[in-house]
Amino acid sequence: MQSRIYMDNHATTPLDPRVLEAMLPYLRDHLGNAASRNHSFGWEAEEAVDRARETVGSFLGGKGKEIIWLSGATESDNLAIKGVVEFYKDKGNHVITTATEHKAVLDTCKALERKKLARVTYLPVDQQGRVSAEQVREAITDETILISVMLANNEIGTIQPIAEIGRVAKEKGIFFHCDATQGFAKISVHVDELGVDLLSASGHKIYGPKGVGFLWVRSRGPRVRLTAQMDGGGHERGMRSGTLNVPGIVGLAAAVEIARGEMAEEAVRTRGLRDRLHEKIVAELDDVYLNGHPTERLPGNLNLSFAYIEGESMLMGLNGSAHPNLPAIAVSSGSACTSATLEPSYVLKALGVGDELAHTSIRFGLGRFNTEEEVDYVAGRVIDEVKRLRDLSPLYEMAKEGIDLKNYFAGAQH
Ligand SMILES: *Cc1c(COP(=O)(O)O)cnc(C)c1O
Repeated sequence: MQSRIYMDNHATTPLDPRVLEAMLPYLRDHLGNAASRNHSFGWEAEEAVDRARETVGSFLGGKGKEIIWLSGATESDNLAIKGVVEFYKDKGNHVITTATEHKAVLDTCKALERKKLARVTYLPVDQQGRVSAEQVREAITDETILISVMLANNEIGTIQPIAEIGRVAKEKGIFFHCDATQGFAKISVHVDELGVDLLSASGHKIYGPKGVGFLWVRSRGPRVRLTAQMDGGGHERGMRSGTLNVPGIVGLAAAVEIARGEMAEEAVRTRGLRDRLHEKIVAELDDVYLNGHPTERLPGNLNLSFAYIEGESMLMGLNGSAHPNLPAIAVSSGSACTSATLEPSYVLKALGVGDELAHTSIRFGLGRFNTEEEVDYVAGRVIDEVKRLRDLSPLYEMAKEGIDLKNYFAGAQH
């Protein structure tokens, strides 16, 4: 067993060695600025960027010229939402999104509200983290100009009914943005089948490099216009000024190329590892609850609440803090996203999971480079750690004595 095990693939993924190989020439020899029109250094950079555009655009079922290269999905969500709201401000100012979006969407919407540029409806989700197309339909008003719903959630892995929402958006003639960062290159994404008009994704969630991402913007049927958020040299057809990250773009496209060939098989393998981990844990421990949707879920996602323990204590037991002599295991807790304040996750709250139980949750993010051996080792460590912590837990003792802790289990699902 290695000294560290990485099982936090929703936070970021390791760089695939094949992606690194594809990038190296663009870090070493092909030094050109893709905007340099006067020499071969520039031309070869521009060619590489345009090839990457075609790779990513066609993988999505769109066109290469519909890709805008950006620094990541945060920038992509910002450009999509602010860009549409600003450009179409004379048509309306209402945006519909969901309560469990990534902060890159939620905080962008909040910023627009603060500046009185938009009115935003945050749709609640059900106990498994889903919104319905009906909910979206009911929220639409004459002022609605944009719907933004994520493909799959980064904490609980729940996959949203994007195609159904897309049909409502199309019928009502409202632009539809999808933050596909977690699902892109993991599950099938085709912009026409999903009925989306703008789509965001990022390199470092798909075994590509950090600091690069894109926004896909539909050019026909309907053509979507945006107000640029960055002023400067007018790169990317004026949509995003700034010298392009050529090695990053080449790497992102290499990651997509790998996904094109391996995604389907990889999903089966990752799901197998995820289910193995889940089964081993629940075979040995009682009072373990699954957060998210049992089936409409990312293959690599497992988010569990371990009643009567603190997720933070559990993390210390796994990440090397409590047992420096054992392999360190990288996973996340349900409080980790806002760990400065130790607020329970807003995503788990939106599912109706009570604060107590939300504090006991751990997110396992399985990915391409995890092995069966790692899964078995992690399962064993989790089981040992939960048993150890429960032995110290007064709540667990009360429960075993038959004292009713009903409130504690608000929102729990098996
Ligand atoms: C990681 C993530 C983002 C942010 O992506 P960056 O490229 O790190 O800016 C946005 N949305 C979702 C769903 C994510 O998982």
